[in-house]
Amino acid sequence: MNSFLTRVDGRTPSKRQRTLVAGGAGFLGGHLCDKLIEDGHRVVCMDNFLTGCRSNVAHLFGHPLFTLIEHDIVAPLPDVGPIGQIYNLACAASPPKYQADPLHTFKSNVIGALNLLDLAGCNNARILQSSTSEIYGDPEISPQPENYRGNVNTVGPRSCYDEGKRAVETLFYEYHLQRGVRTKIARIFNTYGPRMSPSDGRVVSNFVVQALAGDAVTVFGDGSQTRSFCYISDMISGLMALMATPDTVCDPVNLGNPTEFTVLQLARSVIKTLKSPSRMRFVDLPVDDPKQRKPDISRAMQVLGWSPRVSLSEGLANTIPYFASCAKQDGLPMLVAE
Ligand code: UDP
Repeated sequence: MNSFLTRVDGRTPSKRQRTLVAGGAGFLGGHLCDKLIEDGHRVVCMDNFLTGCRSNVAHLFGHPLFTLIEHDIVAPLPDVGPIGQIYNLACAASPPKYQADPLHTFKSNVIGALNLLDLAGCNNARILQSSTSEIYGDPEISPQPENYRGNVNTVGPRSCYDEGKRAVETLFYEYHLQRGVRTKIARIFNTYGPRMSPSDGRVVSNFVVQALAGDAVTVFGDGSQTRSFCYISDMISGLMALMATPDTVCDPVNLGNPTEFTVLQLARSVIKTLKSPSRMRFVDLPVDDPKQRKPDISRAMQVLGWSPRVSLSEGLANTIPYFASCAKQDGLPMLVAE
């Protein structure tokens, strides 16, 4: 792998050092906090609760290894004490959520990353950026390897997220080169699992919630667009494996499940798994919706020894009971058995 690293010291943060998880009360963040604490790390979870949710970390309240700070990383960071590693997961990730306040989305990415990179620099901490498959835009090649430069619209509804994330990769690259900050970049592909918000607006949550209620499953466009769905436990192990790599590993690494499905196949699979009476309702495809998305994970396999283990059918079987319990708690009608 052709790394842009010039300075190497190879130190791995010890478990006694604290780990800051920005966006720690989000879907990925909550699971990451759990796993870090399970492994004995001291965790500082920072979240502005815009899309993060207290219930994702409520079970950790009072745990001696867990601290929660309510803060938006766009604002100057509070004193968080010495930090050994930083995961930056702080940005809304679902299209309807990040498009609700596009300027804040862009600022969360760029200003948030600058604040965290400065903190990493002061602490000589490792810092991992949750970048995204969105940096490839509507890709012209498939699967997408890390050296593909993407096909992104700079002036569309997705631009605030896509271009924000692209700019952060540049910041990570330059902070590493100019200031020796110990950076990591994970390009995260579509991820799903328990604790996704049922109202997130994403395809897995929408389809499962709709099929559980017996409502029409909303397929955008003709459903021929593809996505590759990674189960949450696989994603968390990939992120932690990347953080644990030597400081020489600072090029972007794709993390995702390379098994590709059309949205139509996902709809059929959810309806069949739930034995739901739901039909499909075809609605307009959103502007700039990528037609295909499938990660080339050769680099992750080679550098991290990582590849996903959980198939879509297994992952859905683990995720459906979670959405069913959310519906029950909210008193929503559920036409199909849990
Ligand atoms: N999608 C859909 N129905 C929905 C929500 C999403 O058909 O109710 C489609 C969406 O147009 C996209 C794919 O599913 O092609 C994945 O959408 P999602 O919002 O989950 O994530 P994206 O990969 O677009 O960021």
